[in-house]
Amino acid sequence: MTAGTAIVWLRNDLRLADSPALATAADAFGTVAPVFIFSPAEANSWAPGSASRAWLALSLKSLSSDIEGLGGRLTILSGPTIEALLTLALRTGASAVYWHRRYEPAGAALDAEVARQLESAGLEVHVMDGSLIHEPDALVTGSGTPFQVFTPFFNASLRAGMPDYPLPTPVALPAPANLPVGIPPEEVAAGLTEAPDVARFWSPGESGARALADRFFHDIADEYAQDRDRPDLDGTSRLSPHLAFGEISARVLRAEATEMVKCNGTCHIKEGAAAFIRQLYWREFAYHLLHHHPSTTDRPLRSRFDVFPWSRDPIAMEAWQSGMTGYPIVDAGMRELLATGWMHNRVRMLVASLLTKDLLLPWADGAHWFWERLVDADLANNTFGWQWVAGCGADAAPYFRIFNPVLQGERFDPDGAYAKKWVPELEALPAAWVHRPWVAPSGVLASAGITLGREYPRPIVDHTSARLRALAIYGSLRDIVK
Ligand SMILES: Cc1cc2nc3c(=O)[nH]c(=O)nc-3n(C[C@H](O)[C@H](O)[C@H](O)COP(=O)(O)OP(=O)(O)OC[C@H]3O[C@@H](n4cnc5c(N)ncnc54)[C@H](O)[C@@H]3O)c2cc1C
Repeated sequence: MTAGTAIVWLRNDLRLADSPALATAADAFGTVAPVFIFSPAEANSWAPGSASRAWLALSLKSLSSDIEGLGGRLTILSGPTIEALLTLALRTGASAVYWHRRYEPAGAALDAEVARQLESAGLEVHVMDGSLIHEPDALVTGSGTPFQVFTPFFNASLRAGMPDYPLPTPVALPAPANLPVGIPPEEVAAGLTEAPDVARFWSPGESGARALADRFFHDIADEYAQDRDRPDLDGTSRLSPHLAFGEISARVLRAEATEMVKCNGTCHIKEGAAAFIRQLYWREFAYHLLHHHPSTTDRPLRSRFDVFPWSRDPIAMEAWQSGMTGYPIVDAGMRELLATGWMHNRVRMLVASLLTKDLLLPWADGAHWFWERLVDADLANNTFGWQWVAGCGADAAPYFRIFNPVLQGERFDPDGAYAKKWVPELEALPAAWVHRPWVAPSGVLASAGITLGREYPRPIVDHTSARLRALAIYGSLRDIVK
């Protein structure tokens, strides 16, 4: 260990456990200066949205107190990044800067430039792997190219085996003298008027992440394989915002789930843990694709979709955003998003399908709305999810798969409990009509206190004819542009 100081530049890795950058810097240097730099202007069109900023403020607060518990201090600075880092290095006398690799195009480009400038200023730069289970370049097809299809990617990941066992939390993080005061965590959420009430629904920070992981393995894993598609049940981990901010590492979750697969527990737990590992690898796959196809944040992976004749309909967009499309499962999802900053995966697929296939509105507009409102906004997962549903991404479902919001609602929310929770206007409607109120007999509607078009809208679009319209357009695109 040298007596000097190292800076650890934290970004979407707001944790102490299994943090290669923090652990290595703490082992190698006498004092450590963890820093977070808030610099939304450097993220181009994907600066953090309001829900992410509301989460970030609370996560930084939690991390700050965890670091103080180890004798250290988290400094939060405003950008530009390079100026902030150089000033911090000068004040603290730091000779090295550590960080974890990023894969988002703007972040990766900034990191390369920062590394160049720090090195020319005489600082050591250590870029470490800390966000994924396997690095995107580590897995290639038999012919040496990146994967485009999930199942072979997943099989290759399993063959690659487990990464090194996750690292423990550093025992101490002694702070150097002369740290600048910085800005308070709340400042990253200053001026927000439309963010969800994050503190009501979530516990941002590493201990909140740990608690949800424990809850998942003890209470949910057993039924996860059966229940994970049911938005009316508490059947998934809800770890996505914690993973997006790196408050828990995917390697830790993978290692713990693997222990469960090996254990002598019930078959259900083993199945649940195996299904969970598979979901973690959808995240890995999304990062693999983003790393190899950085332009997909704004353009379709399949270039023939560049000429897709998307509609522009601000009234329909507004109805979708506010949960007023007249399709209860879609409206429930969009209202859950507004209230909590999160939405169940099945419902994300349904709302995205209605937007892109029934309404023919651009997937990129949906992606931007999610980006603004999701507490788990993650450029790799969001881009992948939207392009997958729109049919213009990797591993695309055939374009003719267009989700039916009524049948999907009846299948995955059979009693209508999820729809009624977020669309309380439908509370008194019997389950048989919850997902199709417009065909309920007038007496049923009257006794439920609903006049369509007043308490609750009629469907914004007729799904049957919208489906045929989408099929014709998608089909002609396939024929015209190969
Ligand atoms: C249109 C659309 C947009 C999406 N945008 C995002 C986003 O911005 N951020 C985000 O984290 N996820 C996104 N997803 C993926 C998925 O919906 C969420 O990760 C999941 O709902 C999170 O809930 P959970 O943590 O309870 O998941 P669990 O079922 O408990 O899964 C565990 C973890 O695996 C990963 N995971 C699960 N499903 C997927 C998936 N389909 N794709 C990628 N990773 C997955 C997540 O990190 C998740 O936290 C999107 C999906 C769609 C269809």
